[in-house]
Amino acid sequence: MTKHYDYIAIGGGSGGIASINRAASYGKKCAIIEANQLGGTCVNLGCVPKKVMWYGAQVAEAIHKYAPDYGFDVEFKGFDFQKLVNSRQQYIENIHRSYDNNLAKNGVEVIKGFAKFVDTNTVEVNGELITADHILIATGGHPIRPDIKGTEHGIDSDGFFALNELPKRVAIVGAGYIAVEIAGVLNSLGAEVHQYVRQHSPLRSFDHSIVETLLIEMEQDGIQLHTNTTLTEVVKNDDGSLTLCTESGSLDTVDCLIWAIGRAPSTDNINLQVTGVETTEFGKIKVDKFQNTNVKGIYAVGDIIENSVDLTPVAIAAGRRLSERLFNNKPDEHLNYELIPTVVFTHPAIGTIGLSEIDAVNQFGKDNIKCYSSTFTPMYSAVTQHRQKCMMKLVCLGDDEKVIGLHGIGFGIDEMIQGFAVAIKMGATKADFDNTIAIHPTGAEEFVTMR
Ligand code: FAD
Ligand code: NDP
Repeated sequence: MTKHYDYIAIGGGSGGIASINRAASYGKKCAIIEANQLGGTCVNLGCVPKKVMWYGAQVAEAIHKYAPDYGFDVEFKGFDFQKLVNSRQQYIENIHRSYDNNLAKNGVEVIKGFAKFVDTNTVEVNGELITADHILIATGGHPIRPDIKGTEHGIDSDGFFALNELPKRVAIVGAGYIAVEIAGVLNSLGAEVHQYVRQHSPLRSFDHSIVETLLIEMEQDGIQLHTNTTLTEVVKNDDGSLTLCTESGSLDTVDCLIWAIGRAPSTDNINLQVTGVETTEFGKIKVDKFQNTNVKGIYAVGDIIENSVDLTPVAIAAGRRLSERLFNNKPDEHLNYELIPTVVFTHPAIGTIGLSEIDAVNQFGKDNIKCYSSTFTPMYSAVTQHRQKCMMKLVCLGDDEKVIGLHGIGFGIDEMIQGFAVAIKMGATKADFDNTIAIHPTGAEEFVTMR
């Protein structure tokens, strides 16, 4: 028998859950279809387990780098990687329970299985047909690997979260968020870390001053960055170690290789072609500003869409706004994808919103851009032998010096950016920043006292 709903979401990740819960809260008959675990990438293989690992790394840094100069004579007896993994997974189980409860409270039916389209308003799951007036595609993405000999000997970010012990020597290939975050975590937890980037640096789209500071900190922390290096082959040795062959012919040997070279959209197996929904050549779904695809009644949010900003709050916000528009009589409700703040959980963290200095100059001309910056040692590490830099920058436009970019790397940056993002969204100028009394002694006060 075919089941019918007002609204279904394919994919129970950040975007799908947020949208379906909002729709159900308006009394719509809703179902969410999830092939794996509720919560999607963010909860199971992304933000959440990553942040727990990052906190673990912060604890390691506090013990090894900072505790002695704060007067703590800590006897270090070892680190139990499995214990950290267990604590992380326990926390994730709690999140699963909370998702189950919320969906049940809202009356959303959870259907476990892999959905494929049958036609524009019908999907098939586990051999059953489901029809809906409105269908959301929120199937997210998955990690990719390079097409080189021996690529299968490496793992990806999903494999990183399946590790049960800390690899001794590890290579991370890639230059994006995931590569730098995993490199930082494994390094702080005690692994020998090599990061391979095919160009001159990681995070090339970020403000250059931030990246320069990151590179200094990575070097100080002992991460071995191999720039302008491309792997050509991975050979598995008899003892289980991996030999990495590079274009220049150099050979490095590690115990674990992690590919972090990007992600691909999960649209390939869902039979999208029967719907006529338009995709890019890479399988991303084309949508308008209202998250409509070209097919009436089919929508897409999150990592799956063309020009996506692959962040959980973006998927959530787009999903909720879509439900507001469809089911709460708000015909113009949509997400504005401009000025999205983001944090990279490196060591120290990077926080950023708006244009980098170079992008601002390219867009508005050198004469129209003024930058203010500050580099200092935050008090936390100013009293210890291990010093860690903080670098902050404001990118301002025109005579009224509207702040169009705010960037920082340093202790506590991860928790600073959110509030400044509100100001920048509201169009704050440098004078508005200057007119705000600093909170002392903090790192954040530098953002309102730059000259
Ligand atoms: P997803 O969360 O990926 O959910 C898609 C779901 O659809 C999955 O559960 C999948 O199993 C399911 N699915 C796919 N196909 C089908 C099908 N045919 N039928 C049924 N179910 C299906 N973002 C941040 O904001 N902050 C971070 O710190 C952060 N850290 C990250 C760290 C890592 C390692 C990674 C990989 C990502 C991170 N992200 C982070 C990005 C964030 O996880 C994604 O942007 C977000 O999860 C996207 O949500 P989504 O709903 O589009 O897709
Ligand atoms: P990204 O697409 O951000 O970065 C991957 C990078 O790897 C590319 O930009 C490229 O950089 C490099 N690369 C691509 N192909 C190759 C190759 N064949 N060999 C070597 N290097 C290659 O992907 P990620 O997987 O890191 O992250 C996906 C997204 O998930 C992020 O963009 C982010 O939106 C989100 N995310 C967010 C986090 C957060 O909010 N803290 C954390 C983790 C992920 P180059 O061109 O410079 O070589």
